[in-house]
Amino acid sequence: MGATAGTHQSYEARAYIAGRFEDPTGDWIPVLEKSTGIPFARYTDSSAEQVDRAVRAAKDAQPAWADTSATERSHLLRAFAAELERRHDELIELIIRETGGTSEKAEEELGQSINQLLNSATQVTENAGAILPPYKEGKISLSRSVPLGVIGLIVPWNYPMSLAMRALAPGLAYGNAVVLKPAELTPIAGGQILAEAAHAAGFPAGVFAVVPGDGPTTGRTLSEHPDLDLIHFTGSYEVGHQIANFAARSFRAVATELGGDNAFVVLDDADLDQAASAAVWSALWYQGQTCITAGRHIVMRSVADAFTDAVVARVEKLTVGNPLTEAVNLGPIISEVQRDRFHTGLVLPSIDAGAKVAIGGSYDQLFYQPTVLTGVTPEMPIFTEEIFGPVMPITIVETEAEALELVNRHRTLMNSVFTGDQMRGLAFAQRVKSNEVHVNDGYARHGGEGQLDGYTHRQWIGIQTTPTRYPAWAEASPEG
Ligand code: NAD
Repeated sequence: MGATAGTHQSYEARAYIAGRFEDPTGDWIPVLEKSTGIPFARYTDSSAEQVDRAVRAAKDAQPAWADTSATERSHLLRAFAAELERRHDELIELIIRETGGTSEKAEEELGQSINQLLNSATQVTENAGAILPPYKEGKISLSRSVPLGVIGLIVPWNYPMSLAMRALAPGLAYGNAVVLKPAELTPIAGGQILAEAAHAAGFPAGVFAVVPGDGPTTGRTLSEHPDLDLIHFTGSYEVGHQIANFAARSFRAVATELGGDNAFVVLDDADLDQAASAAVWSALWYQGQTCITAGRHIVMRSVADAFTDAVVARVEKLTVGNPLTEAVNLGPIISEVQRDRFHTGLVLPSIDAGAKVAIGGSYDQLFYQPTVLTGVTPEMPIFTEEIFGPVMPITIVETEAEALELVNRHRTLMNSVFTGDQMRGLAFAQRVKSNEVHVNDGYARHGGEGQLDGYTHRQWIGIQTTPTRYPAWAEASPEG
């Protein structure tokens, strides 16, 4: 669906520190509308001094924030959500322009962000500890969840708002302070808007800061700041690895959400219509630029031709263009760098090595035609690397065991298997080495459990309610 171009509002992403939006310390850098390349906003790189001040202000503000009641924090999170809801139409247009996604993608992203706030607002008022069985007479033992402290949060450009919110909402809910660095391609939806909404909601100064800027300087300064208690990073494997290495050397807690070379398996008894629809959706949603995109399609030989035909028949009908002004299925690739990375770096060398283009394979500026490659072997770069673009490589296997081995050969986040026999699907899924596997589906689920443990640590408190006799050597001697 095309969205209607509305007010051509121009945005500025500024550092938001200790409850204030600061004047830029460096040059303004344009933020481009991804479909047209026209600058529609601007940001500045936050300096090392600003990052340092943001973390210190967060550290100062965090203890009082942790002491507020869960009800009060819950109330503020709801006010934050209401503020995003109030700006719904404006934010949908903004997300389309800044990320190049369709209006469905923008609705999903804004909806997930609001839901995450509301979920955290509820979860924070739920049980956050336990009374443990006494291990000696008269002892009451409590365990309670304690905030970690200051969280440094670094996010990518594909779902800038909801990926920030994934850690921001539970982080704040459980009494942490958060310093966020959005991606440089999306500093408005991923940073400025969140700061404005939290500010309007009335969060105390300092508990949430935003420091826009690039990765190697602003991001690195934040990730290595000595006063962080957790660095939470979502992005590429390479940068995540670097950040985790630093965190390990400095005994710092780190949470990383990285990329995956996910697989979509079609066994010989699958419903091919269902499988083809799910495969097209899983591979091409938001131009294939999500961490759970199906990047490798592993298909048993007896159904490979029919599956490929069914996929191509669907891809033929897809339209590519500016989602702000046209009703299209796919928008632009986020940047030329990303386009060249997968086209020049993965698609062309795989074609040179023998892969065939069944459909697509070309582009006009950032508008890349959805592409199906056949004859892909497990050695080709399109198979061995995460694509992060609208390309579906199809690899034929002879047996189910071969399919399983290929799925597990690479790092994956989410995989799918299609089969007419659900128990066969379950047996296959149990042997797949990823945290998430779907039988006869390509949809994922996020959030929910695990939030409390991710953003707090457990503190054990023992209360002795009756006098205890200690060993004789610890007691006062009879002589005194
Ligand atoms: P990226 O790693 O290049 O950038 C991510 C963030 O890290 C950006 O904010 C960037 O400015 C920052 N950064 C870059 N270099 C840095 C450094 N040296 N120190 C500190 N910060 C630095 O990733 P990207 O290209 O923006 O995103 C695509 C990748 O993210 C893909 O691999 C994708 O699979 C992954 N991803 C994972 C998830 C998930 O939940 N697992 C979700 C979305 C995207």
